[in-house]
Amino acid sequence: MKVFKFGGASVTDADGVKNLAKVLKITVEKDLVVVLSAMGKMTNAFEKVVTNYLGNTRDLSASLHEIVHYHHNILKGLFDSDKHEVYKQVNKLITELSQFLEKNKSKQHAFVYDQVVSYGELISTTIVAAYLQEIGIENMWLDAREFIITDTKYRDGNVQWKDTQQRISEGVNVNGITITQGFIGSDNTHNFTTTLGREGSDYTAAIFAYCLNADAVTIWKDVPGVLNADPRYFKKTTLLHHISYKEAIELAFYGASVIHPKTLQPLQRKEIPLYVKSFENPEAAGTCVGKGVTLDPVTSCFILKRNQVLISLSSLDFSFMMENHIGEVFKWLHEYKMKVELIQNSAISFTVCVDNRYDTLVPLLAKLRGTFKVKWNEGVTLYTIRHASSTEIKKLEADKTVLLKQENRDTVQLVVKE
Ligand code: ADP
Ligand code: ASP
Ligand code: MG
Repeated sequence: MKVFKFGGASVTDADGVKNLAKVLKITVEKDLVVVLSAMGKMTNAFEKVVTNYLGNTRDLSASLHEIVHYHHNILKGLFDSDKHEVYKQVNKLITELSQFLEKNKSKQHAFVYDQVVSYGELISTTIVAAYLQEIGIENMWLDAREFIITDTKYRDGNVQWKDTQQRISEGVNVNGITITQGFIGSDNTHNFTTTLGREGSDYTAAIFAYCLNADAVTIWKDVPGVLNADPRYFKKTTLLHHISYKEAIELAFYGASVIHPKTLQPLQRKEIPLYVKSFENPEAAGTCVGKGVTLDPVTSCFILKRNQVLISLSSLDFSFMMENHIGEVFKWLHEYKMKVELIQNSAISFTVCVDNRYDTLVPLLAKLRGTFKVKWNEGVTLYTIRHASSTEIKKLEADKTVLLKQENRDTVQLVVKE
């Protein structure tokens, strides 16, 4: 059996859903788990609902209405009659969400976030499963929350592998086509909905594949496969035909966002190949991540992360930055959920480039100022370049102000102001 994953970009409208069905027909896989994300940019729309709800703003009903309107438009493009059962199913999910918002007493952002945002995936899978059924592609709808078990770290659930493995082995029918949600699970303490972190549906596909000993995973994207650079920022790119697990883990970790970084470890452990293919051109080979050569073709790879923060700390009294200081800094970075991208230290200073993903920069800086002299730059870009020649690096640096540079055998990293 195989696992397919379709992201938001593949189902932005009714034509996208029809194209998904076409991909299933072309690939003629009989035994398939299909993992699906929320449609289009719906996760962002649900995030807006959370902000309006917790902020008690008057925009709450408008933000909910935008979501209902978007999905109803897609339904209109897929089903001839609004008497179709799927309308009831979608409306039931919306009612469930509204009831949660009315009854909920918790102000804990991450908890509320997961209870709300998960409806993006619940609705998208409901629509797609009904459409496939309608056109004669038999399938079973599966609630991923009954199978993907995490701890109670809302917004960033850690998978409890033993429970998850047991539930999937015992409860998932590997014969036929199953449609399920990416990104969502439930916690092992209260059974509330959790999520695996933004873009986490690739990871869900890998979890199902691992637990079911799948033959392969294919993630269907709006690009021909993994390219040597993000096509949004680089004009000329090269398609990578084959990448080793190790190289792919490095690329994803440094920010090649075409693959979620957590996806590769479970696949690598069982040597399950990962294919990255274009949903617009499903017959093309795409990229295979698996055992074998590091990179084919051998080429330099450019990864870019925007909106990073570079923080420089120095001691207030010119004393050395010793392990105890640095240890303390890391404790706070962890506490404020800052993702550390790069560090550099000298005798009296310590510089760290972080991803301010949870908007915690202000309280972190306040904490750091208690102990250190603090300087920082917001909105900087981190480039990671692998396997590049010095000429290529020089060319990249030419029109930029480099704030920090770090180099080792395969990798050069630059923090720049553009
Ligand atoms: P999904 O629809 O599954 O959420 P994503 O938007 O997360 O898909 O991933 C696809 C996007 O990843 C592409 O549109 C592209 O802009 C971006 N991307 C970043 N780095 C790369 C890369 N090295 N190769 C291909 N695409 C990349
Ligand atoms: N829908 C979620 C997100 O947009 C998960 C995913 O698409 O992978 O982050
Ligand atoms: Mg995505």
